[in-house]
Amino acid sequence: MIGLGIAVGLILSYLAGLILANKALVPIQKSWEKQSQFVADASHELRTPLSVIQTHLELLFRHPTNTIEQESITIFKSLSEVKRINKLVEDLLTLARSDSDEKQIDPHWFFFDELLRLIIEQFAPIAEMKDILIEDNIEDKLQYFGDKNRLHQLFVILVDNALKYTSAKGRVNISCKKEGSLLRIVIFDTGVGIPESDLPFVFDRFYRSDKSRTREEGGTGLGLSIAKWIVEAHRGHITVESKLVEGTRFTIKLPLKERLN
Ligand code: ADP
Repeated sequence: MIGLGIAVGLILSYLAGLILANKALVPIQKSWEKQSQFVADASHELRTPLSVIQTHLELLFRHPTNTIEQESITIFKSLSEVKRINKLVEDLLTLARSDSDEKQIDPHWFFFDELLRLIIEQFAPIAEMKDILIEDNIEDKLQYFGDKNRLHQLFVILVDNALKYTSAKGRVNISCKKEGSLLRIVIFDTGVGIPESDLPFVFDRFYRSDKSRTREEGGTGLGLSIAKWIVEAHRGHITVESKLVEGTRFTIKLPLKERLN
Protein backbone atom coordinates (compact mmCIF):
# COMPACT_ATOMS: atom_id res chain seq x y z
CA MET A 1 0.00 0.00 0.00
CA ILE A 2 2.82 2.36 1.02
CA GLY A 3 4.69 1.36 -2.15
CA LEU A 4 1.68 2.24 -4.29
CA GLY A 5 1.41 5.64 -2.55
CA ILE A 6 5.11 6.36 -3.29
CA ALA A 7 4.65 5.31 -6.93
CA VAL A 8 1.57 7.56 -7.37
CA GLY A 9 3.45 10.41 -5.66
CA LEU A 10 6.42 9.94 -8.00
CA ILE A 11 4.18 9.88 -11.09
CA LEU A 12 2.33 13.01 -9.94
CA SER A 13 5.55 14.94 -9.27
CA TYR A 14 6.91 13.76 -12.66
CA LEU A 15 3.72 15.05 -14.38
CA ALA A 16 3.90 18.34 -12.45
CA GLY A 17 7.54 18.68 -13.55
CA LEU A 18 6.52 18.08 -17.16
CA ILE A 19 3.75 20.71 -16.98
CA LEU A 20 6.12 23.27 -15.41
CA ALA A 21 8.84 22.57 -17.98
CA ASN A 22 6.28 22.92 -20.76
CA LYS A 23 5.07 26.26 -19.31
CA ALA A 24 8.64 27.54 -19.14
CA LEU A 25 9.20 26.53 -22.76
CA VAL A 26 6.20 28.46 -24.13
CA PRO A 27 7.86 31.93 -24.05
CA ILE A 28 11.07 30.47 -25.58
CA GLN A 29 9.04 28.85 -28.36
CA LYS A 30 7.08 32.09 -28.95
CA SER A 31 10.29 34.11 -29.17
CA TRP A 32 11.75 31.49 -31.54
CA GLU A 33 8.63 31.70 -33.76
CA LYS A 34 8.85 35.52 -33.75
CA GLN A 35 12.53 35.32 -34.73
CA SER A 36 11.82 32.83 -37.55
CA GLN A 37 8.99 35.04 -38.86
CA PHE A 38 11.36 38.03 -38.80
CA VAL A 39 14.03 36.13 -40.80
CA ALA A 40 11.38 34.93 -43.28
CA ASP A 41 10.00 38.49 -43.75
CA ALA A 42 13.50 39.97 -44.09
CA SER A 43 14.48 37.34 -46.70
CA HIS A 44 11.28 38.00 -48.63
CA GLU A 45 11.93 41.76 -48.62
CA LEU A 46 15.50 41.24 -49.85
CA ARG A 47 14.50 38.75 -52.53
CA THR A 48 12.24 41.20 -54.41
CA PRO A 49 14.86 43.90 -55.18
CA LEU A 50 17.51 41.22 -55.83
CA SER A 51 15.40 39.55 -58.50
CA VAL A 52 14.63 42.94 -60.08
CA ILE A 53 18.40 43.63 -60.29
CA GLN A 54 19.03 40.17 -61.71
CA THR A 55 16.42 40.73 -64.46
CA HIS A 56 17.94 44.11 -65.37
CA LEU A 57 21.48 42.73 -65.51
CA GLU A 58 20.33 39.82 -67.70
CA LEU A 59 18.69 42.35 -70.02
CA LEU A 60 21.98 44.27 -70.32
CA PHE A 61 23.89 41.03 -70.94
CA ARG A 62 21.49 39.65 -73.60
CA HIS A 63 21.05 42.87 -75.56
CA PRO A 64 24.53 44.33 -76.11
CA THR A 65 23.15 46.30 -79.06
CA ASN A 66 20.88 48.45 -76.89
CA THR A 67 21.29 52.23 -77.18
CA ILE A 68 23.02 54.17 -74.40
CA GLU A 69 19.62 55.64 -73.39
CA GLN A 70 18.08 52.18 -73.01
CA GLU A 71 21.08 50.99 -70.99
CA SER A 72 20.94 54.08 -68.76
CA ILE A 73 17.31 53.36 -67.88
CA THR A 74 18.17 49.75 -66.96
CA ILE A 75 21.14 50.86 -64.85
CA PHE A 76 19.06 53.58 -63.14
CA LYS A 77 16.37 51.04 -62.21
CA SER A 78 19.00 48.63 -60.85
CA LEU A 79 20.58 51.42 -58.81
CA SER A 80 17.31 52.32 -57.14
CA GLU A 81 16.87 48.67 -56.11
CA VAL A 82 20.44 48.68 -54.69
CA LYS A 83 19.46 51.76 -52.64
CA ARG A 84 16.39 49.90 -51.36
CA ILE A 85 18.57 46.95 -50.26
CA ASN A 86 20.96 49.35 -48.50
CA LYS A 87 18.11 51.01 -46.59
CA LEU A 88 16.65 47.63 -45.67
CA VAL A 89 19.98 46.30 -44.36
CA GLU A 90 20.52 49.51 -42.37
CA ASP A 91 17.03 49.20 -40.81
CA LEU A 92 17.57 45.50 -40.07
CA LEU A 93 20.85 46.29 -38.30
CA THR A 94 19.12 48.94 -36.17
CA LEU A 95 16.41 46.45 -35.17
CA ALA A 96 18.97 43.73 -34.46
CA ARG A 97 20.65 46.19 -32.10
CA SER A 98 17.34 46.98 -30.42
CA ASP A 99 16.86 43.23 -29.76
CA SER A 100 20.36 42.71 -28.40
CA ASP A 101 21.72 43.35 -24.92
CA GLU A 102 24.07 46.02 -26.26
CA LYS A 103 23.86 49.49 -24.73
CA GLN A 104 20.76 50.85 -26.45
CA ILE A 105 21.23 54.60 -26.31
CA ASP A 106 23.93 57.13 -25.60
CA PRO A 107 22.32 60.08 -23.74
CA HIS A 108 23.63 63.67 -23.46
CA TRP A 109 22.12 67.06 -22.67
CA PHE A 110 20.95 69.02 -25.73
CA PHE A 111 18.28 71.50 -26.84
CA PHE A 112 15.30 69.58 -28.24
CA ASP A 113 13.97 72.62 -30.16
CA GLU A 114 17.30 72.85 -32.05
CA LEU A 115 17.00 69.21 -33.13
CA LEU A 116 13.45 69.76 -34.47
CA ARG A 117 14.46 72.94 -36.31
CA LEU A 118 17.38 71.07 -37.90
CA ILE A 119 14.94 68.38 -39.11
CA ILE A 120 12.66 71.06 -40.62
CA GLU A 121 15.65 72.65 -42.36
CA GLN A 122 16.74 69.27 -43.76
CA PHE A 123 13.29 68.46 -45.13
CA ALA A 124 12.53 71.98 -46.44
CA PRO A 125 13.82 71.28 -50.00
CA ILE A 126 11.70 68.10 -50.31
CA ALA A 127 8.62 69.89 -48.95
CA GLU A 128 9.16 72.73 -51.41
CA MET A 129 9.61 70.30 -54.30
CA LYS A 130 6.37 68.53 -53.36
CA ASP A 131 4.57 71.85 -52.70
CA ILE A 132 3.80 70.94 -49.07
CA LEU A 133 3.85 73.52 -46.30
CA ILE A 134 5.79 72.64 -43.13
CA GLU A 135 4.46 74.57 -40.12
CA ASP A 136 6.00 74.54 -36.69
CA ASN A 137 5.03 75.45 -33.19
CA ILE A 138 8.10 74.64 -31.11
CA GLU A 139 8.88 76.01 -27.64
CA ASP A 140 12.35 77.54 -27.30
CA LYS A 141 15.17 76.41 -25.02
CA LEU A 142 13.85 72.93 -24.24
CA GLN A 143 16.74 71.16 -22.55
CA TYR A 144 16.57 67.38 -22.78
CA PHE A 145 18.78 64.46 -21.73
CA GLY A 146 18.70 61.77 -24.45
CA ASP A 147 20.36 60.23 -27.48
CA LYS A 148 20.34 63.05 -30.04
CA ASN A 149 21.34 60.83 -32.98
CA ARG A 150 18.64 58.25 -32.28
CA LEU A 151 16.03 60.99 -31.80
CA HIS A 152 17.17 62.56 -35.07
CA GLN A 153 16.58 59.15 -36.70
CA LEU A 154 13.08 59.05 -35.09
CA PHE A 155 12.03 62.42 -36.54
CA VAL A 156 13.54 61.62 -39.94
CA ILE A 157 11.24 58.55 -40.05
CA LEU A 158 8.12 60.47 -38.97
CA VAL A 159 8.63 63.61 -41.09
CA ASP A 160 9.73 61.57 -44.10
CA ASN A 161 6.50 59.51 -43.81
CA ALA A 162 4.40 62.65 -43.34
CA LEU A 163 5.82 64.13 -46.56
CA LYS A 164 5.68 60.79 -48.40
CA TYR A 165 1.98 60.25 -47.73
CA THR A 166 0.84 63.86 -48.29
CA SER A 167 0.17 65.34 -51.70
CA ALA A 168 0.75 68.81 -53.14
CA LYS A 169 -0.84 71.77 -51.30
CA GLY A 170 -0.98 69.66 -48.11
CA ARG A 171 0.44 70.58 -44.70
CA VAL A 172 2.78 68.97 -42.19
CA ASN A 173 2.77 70.44 -38.70
CA ILE A 174 5.46 69.84 -36.07
CA SER A 175 4.85 71.03 -32.51
CA CYS A 176 6.71 70.52 -29.28
CA LYS A 177 6.09 71.82 -25.77
CA LYS A 178 6.84 71.04 -22.17
CA GLU A 179 3.87 69.61 -20.27
CA GLY A 180 4.63 69.16 -16.58
CA SER A 181 7.37 66.55 -16.34
CA LEU A 182 7.31 65.55 -20.01
CA LEU A 183 7.87 66.78 -23.56
CA ARG A 184 4.91 66.43 -25.90
CA ILE A 185 5.76 66.33 -29.59
CA VAL A 186 3.05 66.12 -32.25
CA ILE A 187 3.62 65.56 -35.95
CA PHE A 188 0.52 65.73 -38.05
CA ASP A 189 -0.11 65.78 -41.77
CA THR A 190 -3.08 66.36 -44.06
CA GLY A 191 -2.19 63.30 -46.13
CA VAL A 192 -3.87 60.09 -47.28
CA GLY A 193 -4.41 58.75 -43.74
CA ILE A 194 -4.33 55.15 -42.50
CA PRO A 195 -7.43 52.89 -42.51
CA GLU A 196 -8.78 52.34 -38.98
CA SER A 197 -8.35 48.56 -39.32
CA ASP A 198 -4.59 49.04 -39.97
CA LEU A 199 -3.90 51.38 -37.05
CA PRO A 200 -3.20 48.68 -34.41
CA PHE A 201 -0.49 47.17 -36.64
CA VAL A 202 1.44 50.15 -38.04
CA PHE A 203 4.22 49.78 -35.43
CA ASP A 204 4.70 46.08 -36.30
CA ARG A 205 7.82 45.07 -38.20
CA PHE A 206 7.31 44.94 -41.99
CA TYR A 207 3.75 46.22 -41.73
CA ARG A 208 2.64 48.39 -44.64
CA SER A 209 -0.84 49.77 -44.94
CA ASP A 210 -0.95 50.11 -48.71
CA LYS A 211 1.66 47.64 -49.93
CA SER A 212 1.99 48.64 -53.57
CA ARG A 213 2.01 52.37 -52.82
CA THR A 214 4.55 52.18 -49.99
CA ARG A 215 6.88 49.97 -52.01
CA GLU A 216 6.72 52.53 -54.79
CA GLU A 217 7.65 55.20 -52.23
CA GLY A 218 10.72 53.17 -51.20
CA GLY A 219 9.21 52.06 -47.85
CA THR A 220 10.52 49.01 -46.01
CA GLY A 221 7.72 48.75 -43.43
CA LEU A 222 10.37 48.95 -40.68
CA GLY A 223 10.41 52.71 -40.01
CA LEU A 224 7.66 52.89 -37.41
CA SER A 225 8.91 49.84 -35.48
CA ILE A 226 12.31 51.56 -35.23
CA ALA A 227 10.52 54.80 -34.19
CA LYS A 228 8.68 52.94 -31.41
CA TRP A 229 11.89 51.33 -30.17
CA ILE A 230 13.69 54.73 -30.02
CA VAL A 231 10.80 56.32 -28.07
CA GLU A 232 10.61 53.40 -25.64
CA ALA A 233 14.39 53.37 -25.14
CA HIS A 234 13.83 56.94 -23.81
CA ARG A 235 11.05 55.59 -21.52
CA GLY A 236 8.51 57.43 -23.67
CA HIS A 237 5.29 56.62 -25.45
CA ILE A 238 4.20 56.99 -29.09
CA THR A 239 0.60 56.89 -30.36
CA VAL A 240 -1.07 57.36 -33.73
CA GLU A 241 -4.47 58.69 -34.75
CA SER A 242 -5.57 58.84 -38.35
CA LYS A 243 -8.53 59.34 -40.67
CA LEU A 244 -8.55 58.31 -44.30
CA VAL A 245 -8.17 61.28 -46.68
CA GLU A 246 -7.96 63.72 -43.72
CA GLY A 247 -4.52 62.90 -42.33
CA THR A 248 -2.41 61.34 -39.61
CA ARG A 249 -1.18 62.50 -36.20
CA PHE A 250 1.70 60.96 -34.24
CA THR A 251 2.02 62.02 -30.59
CA ILE A 252 5.18 61.34 -28.61
CA LYS A 253 5.52 61.83 -24.88
CA LEU A 254 9.04 61.81 -23.45
CA PRO A 255 9.61 62.02 -19.70
CA LEU A 256 12.04 64.78 -18.75
CA LYS A 257 13.31 63.44 -15.46
CA GLU A 258 13.76 59.77 -16.30
CA ARG A 259 17.18 58.23 -15.63
CA LEU A 260 18.36 56.59 -18.86
CA ASN A 261 20.78 53.60 -18.79
P1 ADP B 1 7.38 52.43 -44.63
O1 ADP B 1 8.86 52.34 -44.73
O2 ADP B 1 6.64 51.47 -45.51
O3 ADP B 1 6.86 53.84 -44.72
P2 ADP B 1 6.75 52.53 -41.81
O4 ADP B 1 6.99 51.51 -40.75
O5 ADP B 1 7.44 53.84 -41.66
O6 ADP B 1 7.09 51.83 -43.18
O7 ADP B 1 5.20 52.77 -41.90
C1 ADP B 1 4.32 51.65 -41.93
C2 ADP B 1 3.09 51.96 -42.77
O8 ADP B 1 2.28 52.93 -42.10
C3 ADP B 1 3.43 52.60 -44.12
O9 ADP B 1 3.68 51.62 -45.09
C4 ADP B 1 2.18 53.41 -44.42
O10 ADP B 1 1.21 52.57 -45.04
C5 ADP B 1 1.68 53.81 -43.04
N1 ADP B 1 2.06 55.21 -42.67
C6 ADP B 1 3.10 55.59 -41.88
N2 ADP B 1 3.10 56.93 -41.71
C7 ADP B 1 2.07 57.40 -42.42
C8 ADP B 1 1.54 58.72 -42.65
N3 ADP B 1 2.08 59.82 -42.10
N4 ADP B 1 0.43 58.83 -43.44
C9 ADP B 1 -0.14 57.72 -43.97
N5 ADP B 1 0.30 56.46 -43.80
C10 ADP B 1 1.39 56.30 -43.03
